[in-house]
Amino acid sequence: MNRAESQKVADYLDLLGYQSTDALQKADLVVLNTCVVRQSAEGKVIGMLGYLKGMKRQKPDLSILVTGCFVDSDIKQLEKSFPHVALFFQPSDYAGVLNWAEKQAIVVPENIASQPSRHNIAVSAFIPIMQGCNNFCSYCIVPYRRGRERSRPPDEVVCEITELAKRGTREVILLGQNVNSYGHDLPAPSDLGDLLFKLNDVAGLARIRFLTNHPKDMSQQLIKTIASLDKVCQHINLPLQAGNDDVLKAMRRGYTAEQYRQLVGTIRRYIPEVALSTDIIVGFPDESDGQFEQTLAMLEEIRFDTVHDAVYSPRPGTIAAKEHQDNISPEIKKERLNKVEEIQSNIAAEINYRLTGKTIQVLVEGKKGGKWYGRTRSNKLVFFESSDDCLGRLIDVTIVKTSPWALQAGQEQSLLGD
Ligand code: SAM
Ligand code: SF4
Repeated sequence: MNRAESQKVADYLDLLGYQSTDALQKADLVVLNTCVVRQSAEGKVIGMLGYLKGMKRQKPDLSILVTGCFVDSDIKQLEKSFPHVALFFQPSDYAGVLNWAEKQAIVVPENIASQPSRHNIAVSAFIPIMQGCNNFCSYCIVPYRRGRERSRPPDEVVCEITELAKRGTREVILLGQNVNSYGHDLPAPSDLGDLLFKLNDVAGLARIRFLTNHPKDMSQQLIKTIASLDKVCQHINLPLQAGNDDVLKAMRRGYTAEQYRQLVGTIRRYIPEVALSTDIIVGFPDESDGQFEQTLAMLEEIRFDTVHDAVYSPRPGTIAAKEHQDNISPEIKKERLNKVEEIQSNIAAEINYRLTGKTIQVLVEGKKGGKWYGRTRSNKLVFFESSDDCLGRLIDVTIVKTSPWALQAGQEQSLLGD
């Protein structure tokens, strides 16, 4: 979500006459897009704001804008604490940036919001389809910083993606904190399945992905829809968070381990080749060794392709921070995280090793270290060499080497569909 929003800000700034630079010291304007989902991320934001303060002392004309989840509703207080920041604006409040620009006597082109990006069009584009979250999981700061769910109308999303596909985008990743509740808040209620149906017809688009699902809201109907649409990829991110029912209850996740297990069974029944990824939090308040073992047991049982893990971090204002003490020591949290990572890297190594010798379709997204890279429909990162211009192409490659994190392929087999 942050990457998509940063790209959008970059597109606006480009239309306002700015050019991007990789060298921070050269910049006249810095936009800091922030995450505060964990305390460590917030610490980095504060560190970076300190660094920028020093930079502004050297270069008084420097403008610093700050957005993302660091910007809470009390902007006055932020302005007081960080007087060197020219503007704090809430995530996706691009109007705020334009107002600021006008005040700086920067010419804002008419209809700027509907102007296409002049940056290179990404082969794979992140598209936010909704903002906010209504769930209030007890540990999570997101609903407090991003507000309640607001879906974009499906026609607007389809229109944007049709334009991007005309200009070269081959894959879209639809984004929302809980895409399974997409559209329920619209005057003409809609849902993710309807949107996927519409997008499946967009000419030029080859693949559709979406993030993130919520196990309590993912319906069988949606799973059938995913299975039936040829452009929708066989990759589902389904955050589990914990394997013990009491911990799940304290997290206010709204499902039990058994319900999660059954949901995975349904997904695998309809989409047998699906790759599953998940999110895990270790060291939630009061989580006992036995309860944590149940999380490990779920990982062994379900065998996810990818696990995004994190240690619990108390966030101010959340229900967990108010009601529970952060009583698992940092050492135990780290030990648990290491266990999750050790088990998961063995599982991912085994899953990926089985792909050796298989020929798989890759959508090529770019080049790194002299090699092309892209992803399979199951979201596995693949590197291969080719002297052709492969960017944006669907290419069949044969896997020759694997690791838990990426695959290496031999020479391309064939170019498809271009
Ligand atoms: N909406 C998605 C969901 O329901 O899982 C994820 C959004 S959240 C920004 C991304 C991940 O950050 C979560 O899945 C969770 O694992 C992790 N996370 C959120 N709050 C956290 C906290 N206080 N401490 C540690 N990890 C946290
Ligand atoms: Fe946070 Fe839960 Fe909403 Fe995900 S569903 S953003 S974890 S409150």
